[in-house]
Amino acid sequence: MSASQPRHPADVPVAVPDDVPTLLVKIFGKDRPGITAGLFDTLAAYSVDVVDIEQVVTRGRIVLCALVTEPPPGLEGDLRSTVHSWAESMRMQAEIISGIGDNRPRGLGRSLVTVLGHPLTAETTAAIAAKITGTGGNIDRIFRLAKYPVTAVEFAVSGTETEPLRTALATESAALGVDVAVVAAGLHRRAQRLVVMDVDSTLIQDEVIELFAAHAGCEDKVAEVTAAAMRGELDFEQSLHARVALLEGLDASVVDKVRSEVRLTPGARTLIRTLKRLGYQVGVVSGGFTQVTDDLQDRLGLDFAQANTLEIVDGKLTGRVTGEIVDRAGKARLLRRFAAEAGVPLAQTVAIGDGANDLDMLNAAGLGVAFNAKPVVREAAHTAVNVPFLDTVLYLLGITREEVEAADAHDD
Ligand SMILES: [Mg+2]
Repeated sequence: MSASQPRHPADVPVAVPDDVPTLLVKIFGKDRPGITAGLFDTLAAYSVDVVDIEQVVTRGRIVLCALVTEPPPGLEGDLRSTVHSWAESMRMQAEIISGIGDNRPRGLGRSLVTVLGHPLTAETTAAIAAKITGTGGNIDRIFRLAKYPVTAVEFAVSGTETEPLRTALATESAALGVDVAVVAAGLHRRAQRLVVMDVDSTLIQDEVIELFAAHAGCEDKVAEVTAAAMRGELDFEQSLHARVALLEGLDASVVDKVRSEVRLTPGARTLIRTLKRLGYQVGVVSGGFTQVTDDLQDRLGLDFAQANTLEIVDGKLTGRVTGEIVDRAGKARLLRRFAAEAGVPLAQTVAIGDGANDLDMLNAAGLGVAFNAKPVVREAAHTAVNVPFLDTVLYLLGITREEVEAADAHDD
């Protein structure tokens, strides 16, 4: 094609056929302004078309790859020497490789593998990459999502289905002590979503009933029952009634004290603020109490909140709860209800929790995240986060630390 002809008439497909010769031009060196403009300015003299461009900057070094159509006959040697001279003048290295066509088509099946390391070791990275390859997957792209509070890296993988990849990497991540999330890639990841969180030991660091129990002087008894329930050894509803009964006679003024004692999990505010900015709806469901979750809803601007309600009569806790019981099945039911109210398909919901009573909700959600959970929960969830920072969930959704910080700076 000569420069004088119309380049891309509307009736001619612009995709590069597989059998057309192409040149891969790779530039490497110290990054500075003008590299990309300089390279393409140099190539422009040869009337080549751009098929693909990839550019990465790591610690001040740039790798710029341009895949272009071959120049008119007889000009390739000239193009090569001109690009090399330009690169030399910029103190960059250049490599030009002749070949045919575009990138080879990617295999079927697209997944995103997010690895959270604290730290992320070379050994772990090698093991994960080997596992991906072992399932028949190809790593198409690797990208760092965050360096704080964990090192988060995303691998785009093709050529294998999400489910076997998730199974293979779940075993590997447990052995390596890192968090690995595998999700199907695709448009749904960017669609508006709903995030529903458990409260006790997820959104907050405390178990609310234990805070009440401390005021009633029955901490040990309550903690015992809570632990057994969370391990899945006790029916949640029975244990709820047993624990609440221990609070009978407690003055209602304790509610305000407990509210002020609640400690948010590190990263909770960042997670919620960022999700809200992105147009997500955010809710909480708790086997704890509305006396605390209503306050959290106001403070954090949550769209949904549901929990059990402590009955208060004549300024005293009666030792009973009122209304619909939020237990394991209730949490999943509420996730569905919130999703329906938010107009978000269940497949586009994310649930986060730590206890056995979160399991139905975690399984019902499109993505169930076990957050610093007991082993029984961790093993059953789609993915697990085992670092104590709630904002790391953002990385599982493909949101980078840089994006979070840029949004915060913009808002200040
Ligand atoms: Mg919990």
